[in-house]
Amino acid sequence: MAVEVVHVDSWMKSRIKEEEYAKYMEHGRDFLPQEEITATLEANKNPDPERVKDILAKSLDVQTLEPDETAVLLNINDEQLLQEMEEVARRVKRKVYDNRIVTFAPLYMSNLCINNCLYCGFRKDNRRANRKVLSLEEVRQETEVLVGEIGHKRLIVVYGEHPSTDIDYMVSTIESVYGVKVKSRNGWANIRRVNVNAPPLSVEDLRRLSEVGIGTYQVFQETYHRPTYERLHPEGTIKSDYHWRLYCMHRAMEAGIDDVGIGVLFGLYHWKFEVMGLLYHARELEGKFGVGPHTVSFPRLEPALNIPFTEHSPYEVTDEDFKKIITVVRLAIPYTGMILTARESPEIRRDVIHSGVTQTDASSKIGIGAYAAGSQSQEGSKQQFYLGDTRDLDEVVRELARMGYITSFCTAGYRCGRTGGNIMELLRSGKEGKFCKLNAVLTFREWVDGFASEETRVVAEEIIAKEISEIKETMPEIFPHFMKYYDRIRQGETDLYF
Ligand code: SAM
Ligand code: SF4
Repeated sequence: MAVEVVHVDSWMKSRIKEEEYAKYMEHGRDFLPQEEITATLEANKNPDPERVKDILAKSLDVQTLEPDETAVLLNINDEQLLQEMEEVARRVKRKVYDNRIVTFAPLYMSNLCINNCLYCGFRKDNRRANRKVLSLEEVRQETEVLVGEIGHKRLIVVYGEHPSTDIDYMVSTIESVYGVKVKSRNGWANIRRVNVNAPPLSVEDLRRLSEVGIGTYQVFQETYHRPTYERLHPEGTIKSDYHWRLYCMHRAMEAGIDDVGIGVLFGLYHWKFEVMGLLYHARELEGKFGVGPHTVSFPRLEPALNIPFTEHSPYEVTDEDFKKIITVVRLAIPYTGMILTARESPEIRRDVIHSGVTQTDASSKIGIGAYAAGSQSQEGSKQQFYLGDTRDLDEVVRELARMGYITSFCTAGYRCGRTGGNIMELLRSGKEGKFCKLNAVLTFREWVDGFASEETRVVAEEIIAKEISEIKETMPEIFPHFMKYYDRIRQGETDLYF
């Protein structure tokens, strides 16, 4: 045990490389002007409707907003202006992403963690957490269920921060996921895109993640508000270093990962400040690297076993404000993907999906090893928090189709180099939508033939027919080529994309 303590201690000390973030700071200052944010929010109260109209026009033109413009939107309370704002958010989403929703599942690899975040079920001091690290064989078993029984094509793999699950473990587990192939009703199925939610890593470690072929590298700042950050991440832990975390996307870009996901854990500090933080972060990445965040996530604090903090936060976000957060993020960073997770209940998901969401998970289980264990219940001691929506993918796809959305299983983007700066331009101009529409139909067809229940298939056929006729009308030059691929998928071929 003593040996273990020494090992963990020296490992922790070697993690943070101050020179890897100090070089991006200006005279020791970061890009998050805490006081200025508060002042900007204050100065833009009671917005003038004409100004709001101009700002909404800018969003509709897919331009990133300025901080004062974002503050204006955050301060809107007038019912009519709110409705206008929501309507424009819907139009921006349609313009950039059409009616597609991308789906994925989380795969939690381990719940060992040396940090002690006050809100998390995996925190080091949580004695009631039942600790487990998946072996490579267990990773394979989990993936087989996700691929073979549910039909997922994208995963987000999730890690705590611990020497036993460092970069070597991350690389081998990701390789294991990519190595799984399962026979489905129509051909071979596999995971084609692994996104990663992991602690902030060094440039060297991030290069290794890049080499193994990941999709998005995702790290949430949790809160951009420095005093709150310091209070919730006890001193002496790696996570207590605000700047090591704040600059991890800079390091990712440096390491060749230009597809990054940022986020806030809403409920830790005031939501208006946090949305401003997300905007500053996006603008900083755009300014320094010419590439903004590929995705923004907005988890809300959920209860967790033996974590009293989650039940008494003074900054709890109401459902109404949650919807406003999603709407304003869609308008302020109009090109970005937005992820709504199964932390939220089906009712909330139904309501806010129209406000600009582009990705959502389904059939999710966040207990370590829970997919292969086949347990229906959420076992508190092995998971980070409790989920609000445990419906399976088939049901979620069916509901989305009834609402007019096509579920896309497309993973072509990063495999054809449509990432980072390339995709930013395609998204802004609406051109990415073309590839995505074709690939959404092809991958949805493949999933329906391989995995859908009869009830879902009936609804899915309607939406597929509608999409095909739109492709015929709007892309006549590519339509014959598209139909060849479509027919080949119907014959049992898989993984065809533009
Ligand atoms: N350990 C890594 C880290 O902290 O960056 C990544 C994994 S952590 C398991 C993933 C995310 O879960 C965290 O970044 C945090 O935003 C979120 N989270 C933690 N506790 C939560 C809670 N009680 N409710 C909802 N989300 C939570
Ligand atoms: Fe560990 Fe991440 Fe949980 Fe913090 S949020 S305790 S770093 S797993």
